[in-house]
Amino acid sequence: MVRENEIRENEVAVEPPPAVDAGLVFIGRIETPWVLRLETPRQGRQDGPICIIEVVEPWEEALRGIERFQRLEILYWLDRSRRDLVLQSPASNGETHGTFSLRSPVRPNPIGTSIVILEKVEGARLFVKGLDCLDGTPLIDIKPDRCLFTPVAPPQKGDFETAHGPDDSPISQLMK
Ligand code: SAM
Repeated sequence: MVRENEIRENEVAVEPPPAVDAGLVFIGRIETPWVLRLETPRQGRQDGPICIIEVVEPWEEALRGIERFQRLEILYWLDRSRRDLVLQSPASNGETHGTFSLRSPVRPNPIGTSIVILEKVEGARLFVKGLDCLDGTPLIDIKPDRCLFTPVAPPQKGDFETAHGPDDSPISQLMK
């Protein structure tokens, strides 16, 4: 499944439980060149076309400092997806895969994520490369790419726990 909401051979749909409101708030929209799923990239490429992420009020101020990061992680709501498949056949060849072993847009909570290159910021608009969503896709969140980001808040105890017990580095000793 994916292309146009059809069900393919061996795919399995379920009756999802009633939705419980998680309180998501869309913080903007994404403008892209793509209006048809069949033409949208399956995964964004960092040399792909420029797309515009537009943040709406009252969230514009939340962009302060964003220009310091060359790469951002974008979370978006794949609003035109069906949400009821547990088994999917992306290659349409009858071979099925569990939804959670795929990055298909069809999932119980259709959240898409991409790492994008930030080209420029103009007010509430971010010009980026690396997206793979339809024009008008709702925006859920923006975060600095975790590889570029060092936490601003001080470290806490759990930061020094390893699978083998406490880490004995000098900084972890200071935390005791
Ligand atoms: N990069 C994201 C990820 O891995 O979480 C999304 C990958 S998903 C395979 C990308 C595909 O989702 C596109 O090729 C298109 O078919 C579909 N898609 C994009 N925007 C959508 C939307 N707003 N609603 C439903 N499907 C969408």
